Amino acid sequence: QAKRFGGDRVEPFRPAFRDGGSNIVQIEADLHRAIERDQISLVYQPIIAAKTGDIAGFEALMRWHHPRRGDVPPTEFIAIAERSELIGELGAHALEMAAAQLMEWETALPEMPVFVSVNVSAQQLVRRDFTNLVSGILARHPQRTHTLRIEITETSLMQNPEQNVRVLERVKALGVKLALDDFGTGYSSLSYLSRFPFDVLKIDRSFMRPISSGRDALLRSIIDMAHALGLSVVAEGVEDEDDRSVLAEMGADYLQGFITGQPLTPEDAATLIAQRNPIVAREEQAAE
Ligand code: C2E
Ligand code: MG
Ligand code: MG
Ligand code: MG
Repeated sequence: QAKRFGGDRVEPFRPAFRDGGSNIVQIEADLHRAIERDQISLVYQPIIAAKTGDIAGFEALMRWHHPRRGDVPPTEFIAIAERSELIGELGAHALEMAAAQLMEWETALPEMPVFVSVNVSAQQLVRRDFTNLVSGILARHPQRTHTLRIEITETSLMQNPEQNVRVLERVKALGVKLALDDFGTGYSSLSYLSRFPFDVLKIDRSFMRPISSGRDALLRSIIDMAHALGLSVVAEGVEDEDDRSVLAEMGADYLQGFITGQPLTPEDAATLIAQRNPIVAREEQAAE
């Protein structure tokens, strides 16, 4: 049994929490070295304008390529990192890579500005130096068009709401746009959430499942209320043309999901930006 993990063979990833405790310790130790060993990267999932299909930006999603375990899903290793101080280092690395990538794209493709939205966890936000971290990164990688975004889930905000409002206000003042991630998975009302200085609301992909007949009414009211509060709306988990046309008709501003493509390497993302083609058919063209 022990030999299974001894060699250099690539094993399919086994969920860490179902492994023994010592294995979590091992994964954590591996994660500690993952950055210096260059095993951490970002992939970029396109976010498109709902009406035109044009690329508006990307969500940066972290990947860990473990030499023996293969690709470890972020839901697994982020959770491990969040239980230790590691999340600070990993999160800083993600922000740094994304900002560097944005600067590279701005230079190579100046007439095609895109935003990059980076996931930030609650534990990063409450670290005393988070605002300094972001301002340092922006100083090292100046953004011409203020296109760096961060996204935070509702559940992580609620761990420390008063402090989080203050941190978010300072980060926003640096020119970073703020998105509320996975809206609808927690229990907070939009009016409560409006106390936070968000610019963008991302509707969780669980709303895309046609579970109830009330889905469309619910989506429509979320979109309308977000707009009334001055937020733009990204619908997540958009997988097919039906979802796309319904959401575009409801006035969702941006769409993200398998319909816009799987997350891409930086090289493939750059190629896509340079092609300038809408990712899905334009409404107007389809109608003509
Ligand atoms: P998230 O921020 O809500 O990211 C969206 C997740 O949904 C991604 O999974 C993405 O690949 C997946 N997805 C995109 N389109 C579709 C679709 O049409 N259908 C379905 N079923 N899924 C879709 P991924 O990359 O595995 O990331 C999972 C979660 O891990 C993220 O959820 C985020 O909470 C966390 N995460 C990823 N990267 C980072 C990071 O750099 N920092 C932090 N703190 N968390 C991260
Ligand atoms: Mg996200
Ligand atoms: Mg999300
Ligand atoms: Mg999520």
